[in-house]
Amino acid sequence: MENEKQTEEKSLNFIEQIVEKDLAEGVNNGRIQTRFPPEPNGYLHIGHVKAICMDFGIAEKYHGVCNLRFDDTNPAKEDTEYVETIERDIRWLGFKWGQIFYASDYFEQLYDLAIRFIKEGKAYVDEQTAEQIAEQKGTPTEPGVASPYRDRPIEENLRLFEAMQRGEIEEGKMVLRAKIDMANPNMHFRDPIMYRIITSHPHHRTGRRWNVYPMYDFAHGQSDYFEGVTHSICTLEFEVHRPLYDYFLDQITGANFAGLSPYGPDYRPKQREFNRLNITYTVMSKRKMLQLVKEGLVAGWDDPRMPTVCGLRRRGYTPSAIRTFMDKIGYTKVEGMIDQGLLEHTIREDLKETAPRVCAIFDPVKLVITNYPENPEKPEILVAENIDGHPELGTREMQFGKELWIERGDFLEEADNKFYRLSPGGREVRLKASYIIQATGCEKDENGNITNVYATYDPDSKSGTEGGNRKTKATINWVECHSALYAEVRLYDRLFAVENPSAEEGDFRELLNPESLKVVTAKVEGSLRSELHEPVLVDGIEQENHYQLLKQGYFVVDPDTTAEKLVLNRTCSLKDNYLK
Ligand code: ATP
Ligand code: MG
Repeated sequence: MENEKQTEEKSLNFIEQIVEKDLAEGVNNGRIQTRFPPEPNGYLHIGHVKAICMDFGIAEKYHGVCNLRFDDTNPAKEDTEYVETIERDIRWLGFKWGQIFYASDYFEQLYDLAIRFIKEGKAYVDEQTAEQIAEQKGTPTEPGVASPYRDRPIEENLRLFEAMQRGEIEEGKMVLRAKIDMANPNMHFRDPIMYRIITSHPHHRTGRRWNVYPMYDFAHGQSDYFEGVTHSICTLEFEVHRPLYDYFLDQITGANFAGLSPYGPDYRPKQREFNRLNITYTVMSKRKMLQLVKEGLVAGWDDPRMPTVCGLRRRGYTPSAIRTFMDKIGYTKVEGMIDQGLLEHTIREDLKETAPRVCAIFDPVKLVITNYPENPEKPEILVAENIDGHPELGTREMQFGKELWIERGDFLEEADNKFYRLSPGGREVRLKASYIIQATGCEKDENGNITNVYATYDPDSKSGTEGGNRKTKATINWVECHSALYAEVRLYDRLFAVENPSAEEGDFRELLNPESLKVVTAKVEGSLRSELHEPVLVDGIEQENHYQLLKQGYFVVDPDTTAEKLVLNRTCSLKDNYLK
């Protein structure tokens, strides 16, 4: 529909400009290779998706390849569970990686490289505590203080580093540091740590093989280099690490080429940085998300209120809407905060085009059509378009009958002439995709609550027939009583009550929105009966089914649905405040 019109040229983002310039200059022989490098220590969130769209997007657009690399250098926090969910989430988003690598694939090469650095006098074993090392770092305007171990003999460094790896040294007692420059204005150059000892946890892939593990700065650039990455794209907080990334590469490329990459001495990966994604009314720190999950403040990583990919999916977000959102916000060098309303606007626009409309009644009262046949031979089936005015998007069958559920609020026993819906006294109202009716009265229980509404229908007014053209001031939703399904409806709202929970003082858990989930029940039209089963897998991926419940919002069928009970999650309401 509307989307086909949006094919105009978009201007290049600054990373694309860099890539095009490199291509024009024949840098790295015109090869384009990127990687997405998650640490398998948590679930992917929408911030990661911004990086994914960039990494995979560049490779797709410039006929290169994007690999998936698990940055698994800290066994204390990482797990195979996370590897699997990361892969599943990326596949669901619709991206295809070239190969899967692990930083742990390079432990051997990195260790050898560290030995080489030691032999070349470029690294030393420091026996000071982490606190002492931190104290000696200095400040951006004051030089740091050299460690007393900085000038120990090469032989001693070698012997100690090997002892570290053999597990003979206790965790925390020694580190291997690069010997660079304790006075460098860039603090990252003040003898950064290359290796640390971790003996308390086995590694999810290498088990107990290693007792020393490389730090990010000593692993990331080298991993890029071993694989042949050309553009190592990451977020802005790594910009200050870039000189160190380059320093370590300088030691093994060009004149120092050591044959560690198949691409020759002139090949070199380049790190480039873009702004992180931050969104209002949520948190994206893995630590905080883990806390919410562990303390049961949400139902799990895939709770529909979570900003995780699996949470968004369960909330009813579609890959296409998430990708459109990333296109809209773009990539810059300026950190900022994105209004969650834009994300909601994007999914609403997406579902508007695709989600079949169905009737659901949230606060039901029974409507009896007194002049409808008592026991018809077979139920009357009406046909309604999934999306009005779009026959190409299919139709559905709606069972009609003598007893229908309608919204309690659609009937008033005594109404003034501004109320266009049902009220005794002659006004005609159309039942959605069906007949015109007129209310005749109602029945109440001893407390005065209406139990039945009575009406008559005009058999010649059926939608889709000639009589169906007759206009009424109001159309109301209905669900036939005997074929209706019962649904548990989960009305989700924003997870936090404040715009930027991370900027507030105190405990972020106290800022949770107490109204972020309300569970109600509804009567839903029988056409959703086909949803009462186990989720359907296509290419091993569960398919989510989305609906607009007329006048209520967009909803997705939740995996908690069983053969007996339909569970629907509200993705978003119909009302869009974003554009205002
Ligand atoms: P941690 O919470 O442990 O610091 P992280 O959020 O940096 O982790 P990683 O798994 O290391 O998570 O991230 C993988 C990639 O995703 C990195 O390249 C990182 O720059 C990118 N990324 C992470 N968060 C965001 C974000 N909010 N916006 C854009 N990119 C992000
Ligand atoms: Mg990280």
